[in-house]
Amino acid sequence: MSFSGKVKEELAVVISHSRHCQIAELAALRFYSGEADDRELALQTENETVRRKYFTLLKKTFNIDNALSDGEKEQVFAALLGPSLLQKSCCKRAYLRGAFLAAGSVSDPEKSYHLEIVCQTEKRADEIRELLRSFEIEAKQVVRKNHYVVYLKEGSQIVDTLNVIGAHLALMDFENSRILKDMRNSVNRRVNCETANIGKTVTASVKQTEDIELVMKSGIYKELPETLRSIADARLKHPNVSLKELGELLDPPVGKSGVNHRLRKLSEIAEGIRGNRTGGAYYDEERSGDPA
Ligand SMILES: [Zn+2]
Repeated sequence: MSFSGKVKEELAVVISHSRHCQIAELAALRFYSGEADDRELALQTENETVRRKYFTLLKKTFNIDNALSDGEKEQVFAALLGPSLLQKSCCKRAYLRGAFLAAGSVSDPEKSYHLEIVCQTEKRADEIRELLRSFEIEAKQVVRKNHYVVYLKEGSQIVDTLNVIGAHLALMDFENSRILKDMRNSVNRRVNCETANIGKTVTASVKQTEDIELVMKSGIYKELPETLRSIADARLKHPNVSLKELGELLDPPVGKSGVNHRLRKLSEIAEGIRGNRTGGAYYDEERSGDPA
C-alpha cells in the first residue's frame, strides 16, 4: 500500500469524541469529494475507506442511513453549513482530516516530501490554506487541470499537518525516514569532505615536491640555511605525511606553522627560479644577508 493509502487507513478509524468535530469532518468529506455543491448527500468517491467513514459519521451524528427524506437532508445540510462549523480548534483539525481523506495525498517520504489537497474551487483552496495557517502551516497553491491544488513541500510542515489531522502513526513513520535520510546525507557530506581534504593534502605535497626538486637541481640548494634544507630533505623522504607529522620528524621538532612557513619559502625560491620576481627577491635578500 502507498504511504498515502496508509495515512488514510489510519485516519479512517480516528473518530472524534465530540459531535461538533464529527459534523466538521462530515462537512469536509462531503465538500471536498467530487463536484460538491449540490444538495446530494451521496459521496462522489472511489475510495471505499473514505465512503465507509462518511457513512459511519453520518449514522453517529444524525442517526440516519443512506436513504433519507428531503427533511432529513435539509437537517444534515443545515448542520454541515452551520456558522459555528469551524470555530473551535478541534473542529478545524477534524475538518482538515476530512478534506485530506476526501481529496488529499502525501508522497512516500523515502522518495520525496509532498503533501497536497486537490480542491474543486479557489474558495475551497483558500479555506484549506486559511485553516492550515491557523496551525502555523504555510501552504502553497497552484492551478492544475482546472483544479486548485494546495500543497506542502517541506518535511517539517508535512509532519505538522499529519499531527494536526491526527495521523500519529504515519507521522512517526515519516519522522523515522526523515531522520535516516538526514543521517545518510550527513555521512555522505562527511565522506565527500574528507575525500576533498585528502585530495588537497596530496595536491599540496605534489607541488612541494616539485618545488624542492627544482631548487635542488638549480644548485642553490647547498647555499640554503640548514632549516630549509632539513625540511626539504624530510619532505622528499616523506611525501605523504601531514605538516604536523613532518615537523615532528625534524631535529629539533618544529610546529605545524613553522613547517608551513619553511615550505612556503622553498616554494617562493622555486618560483624565483621559474622567473617569478617575488621569489627572486626573497632569494637575493637571503644571499645578501649571507656573510660568506
Ligand atoms: Zn470540535
